[in-house]
Amino acid sequence: MTKQIFKSICLTAFVVFLASILLFMGVLYEYFSGIQRSQLKMQTDLAAQGAENEGLKYFDGLDVKYYRITWIDTNGTVLYDSKSDSLEMENHLEREEIKQALSEGRGESSRYSVTLMERSIYSARRLADGTVLRLSITQNTVFTLLLGMLQPIALIFVAALILALALAFRLSRNIVKPLNSLNLDEPLKNEGYRELTPLFERIVTQQRKIRRQREELQQKQSEFETVTTGMEEGIILLNEKQIVLGMNPAASRLFHIDGSCAGKHIVSVDRSLKLQELLYKAGGGGHAEMKMEIGAGYYQFSATPVFSEGLISGIVLLILDVTEKEKAEQLRREFTANVSHELKTPLQTISGYAELLANNMVKPEDTTEFSERIYGEAKRMISLVEDIIRLSRLDEGAEDMEREPVELYGLTEEILRRLTEEAKQAEVQMVLTGEQAEVYGIPRLLEEMIYNLCDNAVKYNQKGGQVSVSVKKEGEGVCVAVSDTGIGIPDDCRERIFERFYRVDKSRSKEIGGTGLGLSIVKHAARLHDAEIELESAPGEGTVISVRLPGICNCNA
Ligand code: ADP
Repeated sequence: MTKQIFKSICLTAFVVFLASILLFMGVLYEYFSGIQRSQLKMQTDLAAQGAENEGLKYFDGLDVKYYRITWIDTNGTVLYDSKSDSLEMENHLEREEIKQALSEGRGESSRYSVTLMERSIYSARRLADGTVLRLSITQNTVFTLLLGMLQPIALIFVAALILALALAFRLSRNIVKPLNSLNLDEPLKNEGYRELTPLFERIVTQQRKIRRQREELQQKQSEFETVTTGMEEGIILLNEKQIVLGMNPAASRLFHIDGSCAGKHIVSVDRSLKLQELLYKAGGGGHAEMKMEIGAGYYQFSATPVFSEGLISGIVLLILDVTEKEKAEQLRREFTANVSHELKTPLQTISGYAELLANNMVKPEDTTEFSERIYGEAKRMISLVEDIIRLSRLDEGAEDMEREPVELYGLTEEILRRLTEEAKQAEVQMVLTGEQAEVYGIPRLLEEMIYNLCDNAVKYNQKGGQVSVSVKKEGEGVCVAVSDTGIGIPDDCRERIFERFYRVDKSRSKEIGGTGLGLSIVKHAARLHDAEIELESAPGEGTVISVRLPGICNCNA
């Protein structure tokens, strides 16, 4: 601003200077021309008197350095001329000043010579005998006068320029200085600027408007933050150029963003091509969705364009955690595939044997064995289907099953009795230790849980091995531990044996009638009773599986 004011002042000074010089010269020129004209008139009168009295003799001794004297006859013939030979001169009757003098007694005129850049002033007077005496004088034009005065004018110009620069410098600083110290927070308190009062009033109105808008925006922002902060779903707001306007904590957590990334492009949040494609679709004006895997989770992205006055002004990106759903779906798919596979094998066996029997292709002495095999496979299928039904009921939460106090020592005793025959065949000895202990739970599930653990301890044992079951109170709760001296479970399989259809040794499990669902039922039943399962195992030495159930007091509470 200082620079601009400085420039303007300099330019004004220059223009004023130039105009002053020209006007001044013009005025002076006119003034002196007037004086010259009246002097010329006087001289003409004197010369006319001389010529009237003495005739041509009057001009003989006359020193006429500055004037030109011409005497013209009544018919326009030049009788005398102080500068040229009168005989060679043309008729002067048509000259303006001569015509005027002949008719009015006096005449005046002036003529410019562009080539000589001169001006000639003429003054003529009619004498008593009718002849005309004319005096003329040459004058420089304003331009030639200016040229002649160039040096002093240039000197004055330089002096004026220096003065103008100094003044402009001071003036511009003096103008800008108070403007820099204006109090714009409270404009109306600035004194000494009456001309700026309308501007100050405008500023105050604008400030009020901005403050109100800011408050409204802050309120909306805090409302938005309050709503979105607690949300588990991630929300990202983008403008039409995919610049992040804001995101809620859930989205920041998902993309591991510590600070704010507002103002940055969405690629600084996630570079995946899938997300770019989704935003591209939404940017085209349509709602778009996709599923994406981030880390160990699955997320559903929904992009919705936001319209303002018919144009897309932004995109709202909603991110839902669908990990559980996705995993459940995956489990269901796997489960269906496993069930089909597990059922297919015994069915094929049954159908094969049945076909042989139907076609009389079995020797009579083998018929019993074939029928037993069919019976065995059918039993396996039945127990598989029973396990599946149990599991699906557990999946549904077993809400229809009643809870009641269950005494676990007696229950375990009964289970071991049922397993006596099996243990005998496997040449395994079973021992039960502990005390009576009650829990609050679903009797059938608790029975199945302990049965499966004991059954496994017998099945995966070695000849001459032992199964020790203990039922003990532990603090408020009860611990049922089933320990065996069997084949043990390798380290890397310990986590997985609770998965559906997972078996360490598939062929051995099938051989001994395992379905691969026993421990899944144990896990589910334990979860429904808020129980914890602990597994210790050493391959070749044995396994201990303990289930810690909350006591009856806890459950009632
Ligand atoms: P299955 O019907 O095959 O016994 P489970 O779900 O009960 O299915 O057990 C899963 C797998 O865990 C079994 O196939 C077996 O390999 C292993 N397993 C379970 N209990 C024991 C145990 N006490 N000792 C060794 N391995 C065991």
